[in-house]
Amino acid sequence: MTFGGRHPGGESPQSPWRDRLPASVILTEVGPRDGFQFESAIIPTDLKIEFIRMLADAGFSRIQAVAFVHPEKVPQMADAAEVARRLPRRDGLTWSALALNLRGVERALDAGMERIEASVSASDAHSLRNAGMDRRAALGQGVAMIRRAAAGGATVIGGIQCALGCVFEGEIPIERVAEMVAEMAGAGADAITLADTTGMGNPLSVSRLLERVLPVAGGLEVGMHFHDTRGLGLANLAIALGFGIRSFDASVGGLGGCPFVPGAAGNIPTEDTVHLLAAMGIETGIDLERLKGCARALSVYLGRTLPGRIYRLDSPGSES
Ligand code: ZN
Repeated sequence: MTFGGRHPGGESPQSPWRDRLPASVILTEVGPRDGFQFESAIIPTDLKIEFIRMLADAGFSRIQAVAFVHPEKVPQMADAAEVARRLPRRDGLTWSALALNLRGVERALDAGMERIEASVSASDAHSLRNAGMDRRAALGQGVAMIRRAAAGGATVIGGIQCALGCVFEGEIPIERVAEMVAEMAGAGADAITLADTTGMGNPLSVSRLLERVLPVAGGLEVGMHFHDTRGLGLANLAIALGFGIRSFDASVGGLGGCPFVPGAAGNIPTEDTVHLLAAMGIETGIDLERLKGCARALSVYLGRTLPGRIYRLDSPGSES
């Protein structure tokens, strides 16, 4: 038995976390969906397209552009079909859409979305607010959504909201999340995204969840979606990296939040995430300076300072 991080022979200290870090990470920019849906003022479609184009220019390989959700419940996404039609097509860039029910999947397929996230909450109370049904009904529908999206030729992400806690229900049992992952994998999901919708996760709960869920997910890509509500987003990401997770959602400037979670706050800021990963020698393929420009442009347009830190620094080393 060893304590204190040393091998029994007294060799160099162990570094299991460092040794397991991935060489590269795929960041999905979700600002146009998670971010724009949470703004009190509706951003005009032309401007959305302009911001989306700027993000595409920063070199992302994945951007979640829209949610196909009820236009009366989430009026900020009422123009989803038009936004989808006008997305700038780029080599190496895949656009995705979020859906919460079968109707949303149908609309996403009609709009030609090639990657669809079928998202279900692990919390009954949140599910009732977000999707109008308890989590068992929502999971049943989630399975149908995954099957429908796959039959329609899309790559399908099974998304699990509130996987690390719920403001209404508190802690979410890990077994429940594991069962949901198994059902989604069985239904034909190509990837799983575990979302900390309420920002209640911490590095220990993230590690417990991943220890349990990764074996269930088999070979599927498991991504994580952190909200920075309590300032733990990047700490949680750093722990997940050590589990070999290499797919994360992030939002430019740290925009974002769930309209059905009181006190919700934004996603981990994409540019802060790129900065962290670059500092650790992990590739993202994203142009940080261009991305900072996007965050600045959004900050000017929205008329407020955004939660992200890095976009407020001029250039590397210029802060004194
Ligand atoms: Zn979110």
